[in-house]
Amino acid sequence: MSTSSELGEENPPHDQDFPFVRLEEIALATHNFSETCVIGHGGFGKVYKGMLGGQEVAVKRLSRDSRQGTEEFKNEVILIAKLQHRNLVRLLGCCGEGDEKLLIYEYLPNKSLDATLFDESRKLLLDWGTRFSIIKGVARGLLYLHEDSRLTIIHRDLKAGNVLLDADMKPKIADFGMARIFDDNQKNANTQRVVGTYGYMAPEYAMEGVFSTKSDVYSFGVLLLEVVAGTRRNSSSQTMSFPSLAVHAWNMWKEEKTWELADKCILNNCSPDEVLLCIHVGLLCVQENPYDRPLMSAVVFILENGSTTLPAPNRPAYFARRSAEMEQIRAGIENSVNSFTLTEIQGR
Ligand code: ATP
Repeated sequence: MSTSSELGEENPPHDQDFPFVRLEEIALATHNFSETCVIGHGGFGKVYKGMLGGQEVAVKRLSRDSRQGTEEFKNEVILIAKLQHRNLVRLLGCCGEGDEKLLIYEYLPNKSLDATLFDESRKLLLDWGTRFSIIKGVARGLLYLHEDSRLTIIHRDLKAGNVLLDADMKPKIADFGMARIFDDNQKNANTQRVVGTYGYMAPEYAMEGVFSTKSDVYSFGVLLLEVVAGTRRNSSSQTMSFPSLAVHAWNMWKEEKTWELADKCILNNCSPDEVLLCIHVGLLCVQENPYDRPLMSAVVFILENGSTTLPAPNRPAYFARRSAEMEQIRAGIENSVNSFTLTEIQGR
């Protein structure tokens, strides 16, 4: 059983330290939740764009028929209210009146990273400089969660869909519905309820429910490799299944063809050293053994300062497993009573 603080059990923030917004004001800001204001759909419910107090905002409205939503809602409010970092999406307020539960965020005009990175024409907006700065920004945001905030926070669902881009393409980590806080000396926790997204989940978490900062590091590694390669973690264009990108990257590394992993559209205008450094760091993050994976403080240091003395990565997770075994794991994940994210296993 998890010994981490279950966020939903903490006291909600008080009026004086967190802005509660009246439903009436939010309805006005979104033209009474008009379909024309809808900018996205999550497992949580619809997301609307609105104007509140002269500021553009995104309003997440928990759908009334969402079974899991209430706990995730509480989780997100309590957690994000305590956090402030330029690479974390800013929660501006919330509302809980009657059946309605709403979260109000700063509006990020460039949507989620996956919407740009995996779109053949929009991905051209992401030259190498922008991609490298996105990778470093996400790394800094995750470092803040793990080590620099007053708490140790495990995000548990880091993925391209949960990174939003601002007007300058600066990244902000979003979606804290699954996050958990650790006590000062706690290193890992175990849960019966595995939540997260297939392909981004560290093997010890997917198979045994053990999560730690190192399972977030694994997800970061998959995300990093996706940003460099411009392909999804489980793209069908790659020959090996589950989860193909890390394995593909490892194969390229072993065959000394690492460079071939890079997205073709960044090649004309990139620093080969930076690209190779990123792939090396990505491979260190997706190593099978969590103890071999670097801490986010090391990842940020390496990305910002470069390094000539990185260890060679060990094989990535899932490398040597038979596909039948992986199918069993996948079936187990799908059957567990868990997160809304898992309903999208096949989709993204
Ligand atoms: P899931 O909830 O299943 O993880 P998700 O993360 O995509 O899926 P949401 O966080 O509810 O779900 O967001 C849905 C979509 O709404 C996002 O992909 C994005 O396009 C848009 N969106 C969410 N928050 C914002 C925001 N602050 N600014 C601009 N667009 C947003």
